[in-house]
Amino acid sequence: MQRRDFIRKLAAGSAALGAGLGLSNTAHARAKYRWKMVTTWPKNFPGLGTAANNLAALIGEMSGGRIRVKVYGAKELVPAFEVFDAVTRGTAQMGHGAAYYWKGKSDTAQFFSTVPFGLTAQEMNAWMYHAGGLELWRELYKPFGLIPAPAGNTGVQMGGWFNKEINSVADLKGLKMRIPGLGGEVLKRAGGTPVNLPGGELFTALSNKVIDATEWVGPYNDLAFGFYKITKYYYYPGFHEPGTTLEALINREAFEELPKDLQSIVLNACKVVNQDLLSEYTARNPAALDTLLNKHHVDLRRYPDDVIRELRRLSREVVGELADKDDFSRKVFASYDAFYQQSKRWSDISERAYLEARDKS
Ligand code: CA
Repeated sequence: MQRRDFIRKLAAGSAALGAGLGLSNTAHARAKYRWKMVTTWPKNFPGLGTAANNLAALIGEMSGGRIRVKVYGAKELVPAFEVFDAVTRGTAQMGHGAAYYWKGKSDTAQFFSTVPFGLTAQEMNAWMYHAGGLELWRELYKPFGLIPAPAGNTGVQMGGWFNKEINSVADLKGLKMRIPGLGGEVLKRAGGTPVNLPGGELFTALSNKVIDATEWVGPYNDLAFGFYKITKYYYYPGFHEPGTTLEALINREAFEELPKDLQSIVLNACKVVNQDLLSEYTARNPAALDTLLNKHHVDLRRYPDDVIRELRRLSREVVGELADKDDFSRKVFASYDAFYQQSKRWSDISERAYLEARDKS
C-alpha cells in the first residue's frame, strides 16, 4: 500500500512538475493514477454496489488505464458510514453513497439525496444539472475538501416491509423502523422510532427483532436481501424516497492533481452511471416485483389515503424546519422549492396526464 501511495504521489508530482516546466502534454499523458473508492454498500450488491463497480470500470476504460479505481465494499477499508470522512481525509480518493447518510455533517446535505413528497428521479436530475442544484451541492461540500456528483438514482422506492398492517397513522406509533434521512424524521413525528442502519445489517436486525420494520429500496434490491422471508406486508409508495440520488464523492486535492481531460472523464463517468443505474432499476424492478408476487406470494399493500395525507403534512413540517435551519439551508430550499413548484405544473400535464391517459380504455 505504501509503495502504491508513493508511486501515485510520484506520478502526480511528475505531472505537476511537468505542467510547471511546460512539459505538460506528454508528462500528463504518461501519468498514472491509482485511486481507491470506498462505498456504503455491500461489495457487488445488485444495483448499488455494481453501480460503484461500473463507475470505476468506466473511469478506467475511458482514460485508457491512466486512472485505475479499486472499489471497496462497506467495512473492507472503512465502515459504511465513515465513507464521507475517509474521502475527506484522502484515505480514499472517491466514495459512493447517498447524501442523507451525512446529516451528522450537515443537515442540508439531505436535500441532495431525496426529500419526502419531493422531486422524482427525472425532476431531481433536471434540478441538479440544469436548475442550480449541483452548484449548491458543490458549495456545501467544499469546506470538507470534497466534490460531489450525482452517480445513480433509484427512482421511486417502496414504502417498506412490515409485520403488521398500517391502517392508520396510529399503527406507526412505537414502530421501530429502519428509515434514513428526512423520512426517518417524519416517522418520528408520527410516533415511531427511526433507526439508521447500513443495508448489509438489515436482514439480521429484522430477524433478531432489533427493528420491527424496514424500508430499503425497491423490488430489485429488496428481493436480493430476502425481506419477504421474515415479514408479512410490503407497502407502497415510498413517499419518503421519491427518486433518491446516489452520490460520488471525490477528494478535491486528488481531483485537482488530474489533468483536465481526466477530470472530465471522472465527472462524465459519474453522469453515465447516474443515468444507467436509473435505467437498470426501471428494468429490474418490474421483473423482481413479478418474482415477489408470483413466486413468493408477497402481500402487497398500498398505504391508505389518510395515512399518506398525514405523512405529507408531517413531511412539509419537517422539510420546512430544515429549510429554515440556517442561511445555506434557506438558499438550497429556495432553489429546490422554486424548481419543485414549476416542475409540478409541468409534470401534471406531461408524465401524470400521459400515464393516466395510457391506461384508460
Ligand atoms: Ca431507502
